[in-house]
Amino acid sequence: MASLPHDCEKLVVVNDGTGFGRNVNRGLRLASGDYVAVAGNDTWVVEGDVYDLCLPQTVTSPLVIGDTPGIAPALEPEGFHGCFWVAPRSVLDRVGLLDERFEHAFYEDDDFVARLHASDIATRQIRSVRVRHVGGLTMLKLGTRARDWLAQNEVVFREKWGWTPSPTLVFRRPAQKDTWHYCRNCSAWPAEEYVDQAEIPSDNQCEECRSLWDAGECRQGGAD
Ligand SMILES: [Zn+2]
Repeated sequence: MASLPHDCEKLVVVNDGTGFGRNVNRGLRLASGDYVAVAGNDTWVVEGDVYDLCLPQTVTSPLVIGDTPGIAPALEPEGFHGCFWVAPRSVLDRVGLLDERFEHAFYEDDDFVARLHASDIATRQIRSVRVRHVGGLTMLKLGTRARDWLAQNEVVFREKWGWTPSPTLVFRRPAQKDTWHYCRNCSAWPAEEYVDQAEIPSDNQCEECRSLWDAGECRQGGAD
């Protein structure tokens, strides 16, 4: 993190195959501050002050701008983003760390957000802090293995909660056209007679959606 203040403690935990949740937890246990930031190694602050993310009784994320829509999208478009979040230590003491039953990756962040909500802890996006994210690439490289983990952890999640989170980012095209939209702020966002899919379309993505995404103005078209 380029703009990390010098009086801020920084711990780097390397994921050497032990899994995402377990590694984050290792860092959370070592960190000693009143607020703890979890930041992916593929993220960096481009604007704002990370200290603005420190809010009492609230878990915050900055405005995250990803390179490719659909890759590692926000879990909560106006709130928590798994690639960069800040939690007060008191909140972690109350709700606990990430659940390590979610092996490798996926759903451990959904589970964390569900536990925050169950404990009435607010999540918030602080748009004055902007973070760039080139993430999801590790997962893309893993290919089918990542899909196996996704399926496996979905089962763990469903057994724990009795429901599964719906995708936060949906691609939608009008029934009679082949342009895919993903931003509800797009002037051409299809309101009726449309087709939805969760997979990232390889081509025919809307240019207006893209420019809204790049500007950080995209309101992701998740499930209704
Ligand atoms: Zn569009």
